[in-house]
Parts: sequence; structure tokens; C-alpha cells
Amino acid sequence: MLSLEILDPFDTFVSKKYNNKPGYGYNFFTKEWTYNCSSCGEDLDAPNRKTMTKIRLYHTRNECLGGY
Ligand SMILES: [Zn+2]
Repeated sequence: MLSLEILDPFDTFVSKKYNNKPGYGYNFFTKEWTYNCSSCGEDLDAPNRKTMTKIRLYHTRNECLGGY
């Protein structure tokens, strides 16, 4: 469990870079991170912030191509 809390420098950089990105939210009821894609309006969710960023990047790069 503890290893999940350790971020390598690149992941830390990515987390900081996207930490204040619009569209991100945290659902306290389901304890999941949410992201509303500003390009296609689709709602994405993930169990943690780090996974949310990966899902968001995958979505924008491979699914709706928002911002690219
Ligand atoms: Zn999208």
C-alpha cells in the first residue's frame, strides 16, 4: 500500500502541471476523481488523482483528440 503513495519525479511534475486544470473534480460521496472533458463533454472518473490524469491523457489523445 505504501508504495502507491510514492511518486517518481515525472509523475510529480505531471500531477502539479495538471493539478489546477479546469474540469477536474472530486466526488466525496463515491470517493472518485472526476473529469469533464471540455472538448466533447464526456464525464470520466478514476479512483485517484494520478489515474485520473492518465485516463484524461488517454482520452484526449486517443478518443476525442481534444487539444491536440
Ligand atoms: Zn473528450
